[in-house]
Amino acid sequence: MRGIFDRTSALDNAMRQFDRAAEILELTPNQIAMIKEPRRVTQARLPVQMDNGQIKVFTGYRVQHNVARGPAKGGVRFHPKVTLDEVNALALWMTYKCAVVDIPMGGGKGGVVVDPKELSAGELERLARRYFAELIDVFGDGRDIPAPDVNTGPQVMAWFMDTFSMHTKMFRPEVVTGKPLELGGSLGRETATADGVVICIKEACEHLNLDLKTATVAVQGFGNVGGYSALNLYNEGCRVIGLSDDTGAFVAEDGFDLPRVREYTQSRKGKLAGVENAFEGVRRLEDPQELLELPVDILVPAALENQIDGENAPRIRARLIAEGANGPLTTEADDILDEKGVLVIPDILCNAGGVTVSYLEWVQNRMGYAWTAERVQEDLDRIMKAAFASVLKTHLERNIPLRVAAFVVAIERVTRASELRGLYA
Ligand code: GLU
Repeated sequence: MRGIFDRTSALDNAMRQFDRAAEILELTPNQIAMIKEPRRVTQARLPVQMDNGQIKVFTGYRVQHNVARGPAKGGVRFHPKVTLDEVNALALWMTYKCAVVDIPMGGGKGGVVVDPKELSAGELERLARRYFAELIDVFGDGRDIPAPDVNTGPQVMAWFMDTFSMHTKMFRPEVVTGKPLELGGSLGRETATADGVVICIKEACEHLNLDLKTATVAVQGFGNVGGYSALNLYNEGCRVIGLSDDTGAFVAEDGFDLPRVREYTQSRKGKLAGVENAFEGVRRLEDPQELLELPVDILVPAALENQIDGENAPRIRARLIAEGANGPLTTEADDILDEKGVLVIPDILCNAGGVTVSYLEWVQNRMGYAWTAERVQEDLDRIMKAAFASVLKTHLERNIPLRVAAFVVAIERVTRASELRGLYA
């Protein structure tokens, strides 16, 4: 089955996306040499003592793709299928994501090859600390600032922060974002990615003349991004008829009652499994990939890479696709959907709310001050709307898809910063 487990071509995909925009901008070979490839790739072997006394060695990565506009910024994911190729792709997307929303950060990403479900809480803590300790010279304020990603959250960030702080013998909350509120985390960070997704969807609906109140929605993925996006869209009045996670895909023709579904998943390790028995009118799809092909107005892929490709793109029926995940569409899918007139809000714009509030968290940490939720929301709203407007303007002026437009806006900013800095030696 194509999909969740086939992620080997994420880097090819990211490179092709870059090339399309670079061609339109007529970048010179020198400009491309400065900004396309990652600047620093680190791989570490991470020995961890398991509860049974055995030592298991895990593999961890950190890629710093570009630091022209600021320190590398991006999450760390814990997943059994993490590869260096994938982390490279995700780091490239972070560079251009930060540039699209115009925050003073570069791009980075990390990953550990592990299935965290198979670890005890103690094993997970030892692995997280070992990862940070092994890469302690790579990270740091002004250098590289990690954050949550797939299967990592505030607790892992707290262990990262503590490891760094103990090592340097100083309280250093600014070295990592997405922390718990008690340790310098920001109000609004937990829901920020999904809040940004919904800001983008609202702007796109206005452009398409699509009424959110009567829109139907399917969301792939029920982690931080998918779960909160579904809830937010439900609160906006949409009928959310499709939901999925790695335990299955489910349809409710009359719409899911999202607050109750979330209550249900919260008592079951966040998983949707069994939701078809717990709620009336909910059925399980035989093939989970069919979720993407439901007849909905808005589709939110919020799981992993390469979910819609040249094979299933012709069967997509949504009018609007909002990429909550990083890299869920291949360039083949982009071409087919563009031909069909489907509007795709690209990942580097659509899910940039997370890193935007990460940036706001870092600013607060550096001031030693905490803003109100309203203040954070106001900044997030302003930053996302400005980014959407500049991408939409480029899309309309140059008659290019939104993804290419987003890369054009972002690459121009990174190239300019890179040229202004010049070469040190
Ligand atoms: N992992 C998130 C992303 O892919 C957030 C990164 C961050 O906050 O630095 O954008």
